[in-house]
Amino acid sequence: MSTLGNESGIARRNGQLWVEGVSAQSLAQTWGTPAYVYSRAMIEAAYQSFVDALGSRPHLVCYAMKANSNLGVLSVLARLGAGFDIVSGGELQRVVAAGGDPSRIVFSGVGKTAVEMRDALAAGIRCFNVESPSELERLAHVASHMGVVAPVSLRINPDVDAGTHPYISTGLRENKFGIGMQDALDVYRRAAALDSIAVHGIDCHIGSQLTSVEPYKDALRILVDLIDTLASEGIELAHIDVGGGQGIRYDDEQPLDIGAWADVINEAIGERDMEVLVEPGRFIAGPAGVLLTRVEYLKENEGRHFAIVDAAMNDLIRPALYSAWQRIESVVDQQRPSHEYDVVGPVCESADFLGKARELAIAEGDFLAIRDAGAYAFVMASNYNTRPRGVELLVDGKDVHVVRERESVESLFELESPLP
Ligand SMILES: *Cc1c(COP(=O)(O)O)cnc(C)c1O
Repeated sequence: MSTLGNESGIARRNGQLWVEGVSAQSLAQTWGTPAYVYSRAMIEAAYQSFVDALGSRPHLVCYAMKANSNLGVLSVLARLGAGFDIVSGGELQRVVAAGGDPSRIVFSGVGKTAVEMRDALAAGIRCFNVESPSELERLAHVASHMGVVAPVSLRINPDVDAGTHPYISTGLRENKFGIGMQDALDVYRRAAALDSIAVHGIDCHIGSQLTSVEPYKDALRILVDLIDTLASEGIELAHIDVGGGQGIRYDDEQPLDIGAWADVINEAIGERDMEVLVEPGRFIAGPAGVLLTRVEYLKENEGRHFAIVDAAMNDLIRPALYSAWQRIESVVDQQRPSHEYDVVGPVCESADFLGKARELAIAEGDFLAIRDAGAYAFVMASNYNTRPRGVELLVDGKDVHVVRERESVESLFELESPLP
């Protein structure tokens, strides 16, 4: 983060990579690899950039915890007074376990079960982001059964093209998320008529890894029109939830300018007396993490150089799943001849790569760092090939906290049994 000094983030100094006050080399040597390492200061600074940008406008920053739901990471944000955007009952339990405040939770997702609704109502969450008419009816039923009123906003699909990868674009008419504009008024009228529903706001989330403010501008224009139409019918909304999707730098992109983004929001809302909710995930956690891995073998096949490392697609699936590109660098600068390497893992799939054609000066036994692995990395990891998931470390200055231990192999089949 630009607001951080070199010593408080993840940065290279004196020819090697540092996570705050601890060298990545010593982390890899002490805790082994693969290891996910997070910087507390970077998480805090990214969160703070939203708080600062929104300034005097009433706001709540709800961290989209699906990006990284480790209890250590959540506890850092909970202590700052963050809200949380959850997408399951499991995530609700994590917030509580990490010391987060349930009254600052918004609940997103297209498939909320009745049990999840009941638990969220019992916990007293801030708002349900309702994504369909059927969900609204189910929620009304569950709330009425409990004798409570459910706070809702409707997730509207404004049909704007966020211009990102098709798998991470969510605001187009043809995808499964949200309620289409043509149905929005009717669903709001229905919500307003239900005794066990209180209409609080409006919500949208148009995609992920957006590096321009234009898609936000387009979506907000549409939402604000709807807000005014609703007000003219006597349905007054108290908040507007603008979703997440704020983009970061993986390669040479410009990260989204949060100040400019806040200006767009303030301009669109104008004098309307509304609180702003925002649901950033990647922007808060992504740059604050690295995945450390060890070079096991170097090999050459038909003139192509491969670095076979001890992390694989099961540990970081973004390259295989979205053709995503993440920086890969030597943990310590080396004076060696360099080659263009495909950095691959040990998993038995051709899609098992972490990066292709990377210029690296490496030898077997060296450590590599995959940057910007704080978001959508560990949380998407699997045990494919019976590979235990790596340790998660949270660095705070010179202190290292093990926020999740490396899995043991036995734990992977603990719930299984051979036939008697
Ligand atoms: C995934 C998601 C987010 C966070 O997206 P990022 O791109 O990580 O900021 C926010 N809101 C909803 C509803 C989501 O599904």
